[in-house]
Amino acid sequence: MGIFKGKLLSGNKNTPKAPNPTTTPPALKNNNCLFHSFLSATCTHKNIQIKSVTIVPKPIGLINDLICTPIGSLNPRMTVCNIVGYALTVNRIARGAERRRRVAALFERVGLSAADVSRYPHEFSGGQRQRIGIARALALEPKLIVCDEPVSALDVSIQSQILNLLKDLQDELGLSYLFIAHNLAVVEYFSDQVAVMYLGKIVEFAGAAELYQNPKHPYTHALLSAVPEPDPDSRQSRRRIILPGEVPSPINPPPGCPFHPRCPLCEDICRTVAPPMAPHQGASAEHLAACHFADQVGPTTVVDRVGNQHPVA
Ligand code: SF4
Repeated sequence: MGIFKGKLLSGNKNTPKAPNPTTTPPALKNNNCLFHSFLSATCTHKNIQIKSVTIVPKPIGLINDLICTPIGSLNPRMTVCNIVGYALTVNRIARGAERRRRVAALFERVGLSAADVSRYPHEFSGGQRQRIGIARALALEPKLIVCDEPVSALDVSIQSQILNLLKDLQDELGLSYLFIAHNLAVVEYFSDQVAVMYLGKIVEFAGAAELYQNPKHPYTHALLSAVPEPDPDSRQSRRRIILPGEVPSPINPPPGCPFHPRCPLCEDICRTVAPPMAPHQGASAEHLAACHFADQVGPTTVVDRVGNQHPVA
């Protein structure tokens, strides 16, 4: 799963709310409940065992937002063996020679040399540090890894190496990822299902291919119109949607649909009634969007309130 990250998602993640079972989309209720479990569990700051994912006050087994600055997430006073093996010690899984053997195996699994486990973080490149972060996340053999902007601080060539490594690990170990990113091309490449968030709420949820080809929420249209187009000919024919105004405060969100102050389709009902996540005409039953007028949003156009069609692709 990928999530388009905005400022508000990162601002909200330290104060998450427990999911409301009556409003949770069906597609998020089954095995993907790990997603909600993670959000509600982290706000308690207690040791909690959720299926095979252990969440502790200092999350171990998760790639959190520290990994988007790999050097800042690694203690410069500790060897990488101590950093990666820390979770094994704290959870009383392995110590001494056994811990070193496990760390060496993790290093080899993420494409590093086992001989490097005694070195310090500053002796590694940015991509290697990211691999160390992945090794640390794998130390407790989690089933779910939360990847918060894992490649945003890396060069493009290194980004692809890290993404391919994550995909290989997924195939080998049967991992699931909750992948949070603002790079929409990376989200499309990496994700099976995508949830688009606005003001801390999911406003659209669908399979990656369907969401990119047939977005039903006006905010998703605006996001996709901002993806850089490498082909100059296609670029000429594309329209960028510039949303008016600023993102409202998540502390005091607008009533009704939170997107209504900036939406080209806004009607009176949008100002008072919050739209539910629901399937819409022209999309599959698993494709959910929180918009009263999603039926007016097509793959290439948004029809505004006076009937004008705005091409977006
Ligand atoms: S519910 Fe109304 S304001 Fe909200 S996205 Fe849909 S059309 Fe726009």
